[in-house]
Amino acid sequence: MVRYFDAELETMPWTDVLAWQAERTATFVRGLVDRSPFHTEKLAGVGVPTGVVRDLAFLEDLPFTTKAEVRESQSTRDPALPLGRHQAVPRGAIHQVLSSSGTTGQPVLYGLTATDVEMWADVIATAFWTAGVRPDDIAGHLVGLPGVAGGLPYADGFRRIGAGLAWIGGWPTERVVELMISLGVDAVLATSSFGTYLTDRCEDLVGIPAKDIGVRKMLGGGEPGLGQPEIRQKIVEGWGLDVLSEIMGLGDVLACLWAECEDGGGMHFCGQRAVAVELVDPATGEPRAWEEGVRGEAVYTTFAREATPALRYRSRDHVLVTATSCACGRTSPRIRCVGRTDDMLIYKGMNVFPSSLRDVVLQGFADDVQPSIRVWKDGSDQVRFDGPIPMDVEASDDLAPDRYREVAAAIAADVRARLQVRVAVTVVAPGSMPRTAYKTPLVHVRETDDDQ
Ligand SMILES: [Zn+2]
Repeated sequence: MVRYFDAELETMPWTDVLAWQAERTATFVRGLVDRSPFHTEKLAGVGVPTGVVRDLAFLEDLPFTTKAEVRESQSTRDPALPLGRHQAVPRGAIHQVLSSSGTTGQPVLYGLTATDVEMWADVIATAFWTAGVRPDDIAGHLVGLPGVAGGLPYADGFRRIGAGLAWIGGWPTERVVELMISLGVDAVLATSSFGTYLTDRCEDLVGIPAKDIGVRKMLGGGEPGLGQPEIRQKIVEGWGLDVLSEIMGLGDVLACLWAECEDGGGMHFCGQRAVAVELVDPATGEPRAWEEGVRGEAVYTTFAREATPALRYRSRDHVLVTATSCACGRTSPRIRCVGRTDDMLIYKGMNVFPSSLRDVVLQGFADDVQPSIRVWKDGSDQVRFDGPIPMDVEASDDLAPDRYREVAAAIAADVRARLQVRVAVTVVAPGSMPRTAYKTPLVHVRETDDDQ
């Protein structure tokens, strides 16, 4: 049984990985100055490293890149630079274009050269292998759109491993399930919402429970949730899984960079050969140490990316370091994603993620309520709350309606005790909250809740 996709890099002492990356990253930064108008401006007057570099600490003196800057870079129309002013190769070298998967606003575009496509496939394959995919698996790819980071690049990752790619996403759910059964799909890539959705609905949709589909490995991601033991247990039991691995990546950097090994307990970094990752204080940008229990925002530098490279890219993903060693022999740190800056709410100066609210509900009230919540905002850009944050929680089938108020009050008290945040909880009847097969948002806006 081959344990690793890339044994050398995955098991190299972590300090050696960092030294190896430092040399490549320094070379990348020196070259970046001349590769795009965006980076020429960004690095003007900034000292780039010279000589032999064996430590990534030099990155701390370089400027960050934000998604807003990338958007701005793409707002200038130049036929030679279809991907924006940070495009770092001639137009003719672009081999593939991807777009962000967000359904609102102007999509952000990313490019890959032929070399980038190969590098992505190697890193994504490393992550998927870490997550348990093997060459003899039939892998069900449930992402419907090819032109997003989780589309064609993930398909390439499965094929790089040598697994049988069954690209069955994009069909109605009933047909997806039928295809999984008839093809004997044993591994699937899905959002955690899809995992819980089919756990609840499979029998209604196709007449059999999810565990009779035959899938034994699931790669889940695209949203927080799989870090929660209650959600994880529900999906594992519902589908009868042997392996449930959380994965994470981003098109701005590399479509899949993190994946859980069979040990669980957080996602290993799998992008050693292409990406340097820093941990910073999200408010000040100051570096934080990769030590167990430390939280910070992940910041990425794509030292091997040609078409649209990223220098100290602010991911806005807040992560918690869960371990820096592992029984599996991989040396990279492990993390959980605890939330995104974009989702953060502020109650009287206290920051809180909707996912943290859900975690409190799951940990203390799993017998009385369902593992999903709905936070209400008055407008899509509302971040601050001066009064209690309105939140719905759905009762379990067993909870008597005359106990709804009591459970709501208990949840509000527990949230206040644990997070120092006041919430106004309404317990709603079972089945009254919308279920979606793909990402299920935790935050809803009152004005436009019809499309949520
Ligand atoms: Zn491991």
